[in-house]
Amino acid sequence: MPTLQGQAVNPTMMQFASLSSHREELLFFQGKIEDIPLTGPIIGIDLGTTNSCCAIVEEGRPKVVPSRFGYNTIPSIVAFSDEHELLIGHPAKNQMMLNPRNTVYGAKRLIGRKYRSRIVQLIKDRFLYSIVETPQGGSAVHIDEKTFTLEQISALILSEIRDIAQEYLHQPVHRAVISVPAHYNDQQRQAVRDAGLLAGLRVERIVNEPTAAALAYGFGRGIQQRLLVYDLGGGTFDASVLEVDKDVFEVISTGGNTFLGGVDFDNTLIDHVIRDFYRETQIDLRNDPIQMQRVRDACEKAKCDLSMEKRTRINIPYLLQRGGKPIHLEQEITRDALNSLVKGLVEETLRVCEAVMKARELKKEDIDEVLLVGGMTRMPLIHERLTAYFGKPPHRNVHPDEAVAIGTALLAHSFGKKNAVRLIDVLALPIGIGLPGGRFVPVIAANTPLPFEKNFVTATTRDNQTVLELPIFQGESQNALENEYLGTLRLAGIQPAPKGAHKVELQFKLSNECLLTLRATNLQSGQSESVVLSTKDTPDELSQQLNAPKPESSPLPAHQRPLPWPPPAR
Ligand code: AMP
Repeated sequence: MPTLQGQAVNPTMMQFASLSSHREELLFFQGKIEDIPLTGPIIGIDLGTTNSCCAIVEEGRPKVVPSRFGYNTIPSIVAFSDEHELLIGHPAKNQMMLNPRNTVYGAKRLIGRKYRSRIVQLIKDRFLYSIVETPQGGSAVHIDEKTFTLEQISALILSEIRDIAQEYLHQPVHRAVISVPAHYNDQQRQAVRDAGLLAGLRVERIVNEPTAAALAYGFGRGIQQRLLVYDLGGGTFDASVLEVDKDVFEVISTGGNTFLGGVDFDNTLIDHVIRDFYRETQIDLRNDPIQMQRVRDACEKAKCDLSMEKRTRINIPYLLQRGGKPIHLEQEITRDALNSLVKGLVEETLRVCEAVMKARELKKEDIDEVLLVGGMTRMPLIHERLTAYFGKPPHRNVHPDEAVAIGTALLAHSFGKKNAVRLIDVLALPIGIGLPGGRFVPVIAANTPLPFEKNFVTATTRDNQTVLELPIFQGESQNALENEYLGTLRLAGIQPAPKGAHKVELQFKLSNECLLTLRATNLQSGQSESVVLSTKDTPDELSQQLNAPKPESSPLPAHQRPLPWPPPAR
């Protein structure tokens, strides 16, 4: 790798190096989307929480592009080594345990979220690297004494993927289709587009992961079926029902839980292991991040091993020293024991599936096939429970780690072709307005087919009101402040008049990729503004603006609440 100011730099990024001495500028593409060629192959990218995967269509067949090290996926991990060397993918994962504070993982859970949003505040302490606020109120990470936005972190992963694809295809790659979770909101989708641009990629289309998985299953097969895509990955769970009619892939219902993924299965096992260790040794491991990282890795490995074996051992030699003597952690765990620890998590996924079907008055008998996506679906308990619930086993021919990337590649390949596929998606979570007092009024309901447009008229509510401000939220709670804050729609320059005198027409427009644009038009003056939804309102400012109390606390979902400590003796 070429070295720049003593640092290893990804060769593709060097292509975009400006003459500036700023290292970040050398890492990221500085141009505009129009500067990127419209020619060349379009690659499909599944930008995952844990792993990412790239696929292309070669001689009419989809194919996963192997990583530099011969794997079909690359870990979505970015790090700086002690020597300040930038590491992406496997090299970053390999040193993670020794260098947890300079290793960024799980960026997908943070990208496009405001630092002060409830979710970031809730999860930021679970990461071992430091998460900071950008001047615009976004979330960023601070590693190796530098600050990177989550878009930049994701861009580094995308650049690595782009490099691999270029090497494989022996030609430059400028274009991509990238998948995102169905529940991603407008800002998260936009942030992925921005990450693509920073990696020098023209993002031709953002596609929802379940739709991509359905494409991998049904593309070109001329089927007419109703599918349920069960997607349990590292951080989140999504369930979607799609109707496939030959080349038309229509999502009819979608739902999920952004706080339910492999990491919760790991945490449940970790909790069990450190409790047992405490009972034996009276040593509390929870406060040492390095020891906890070792326990975390060993537990995740044990969880994966138990998908193949009925029992396994968790062995961590020399975990710590007491009185000059080394202490090892050694425990045996059986598949049955793991199953009983995590059964509540699996039942929660079935509850989501049921709600998603119920939203369309569907019964489990109405589902022709269940497709499994995400690494966690390798767990035998999940197969067993789905088989029992649906009365038939889930479909097995779609690869859980590769299906989404394959689907993105197939979609990319179909662009401009005679039999191009048609995708019809839906809005995953309602979008609406926060009213004074804090009530959330949905404007666009969940499961609304996209694209979609809605206009309605509102009026000034105070005498001599010169500015109209409406905070926009997305989520399922009736309390606006418990939902994701998307920004404030603001129309200024209204001429002073008695309340109600000025009527304002609001237009909410969602693209087929679920990107939101808003327009406000003063019907008296004709003044119109398209609204940029990015403000830096804090929860305090918002609760003042709405004259509503902040939600008391950020309650963790039941399955994630810590158990009492110290654990009672058995
Ligand atoms: P994904 O985000 O789809 O890459 O899924 C990653 C999650 O799948 C992580 O929590 C992994 O621990 C989990 N996973 C991967 N392989 C297995 C396996 N064989 N058994 C159980 N979980 C697995």
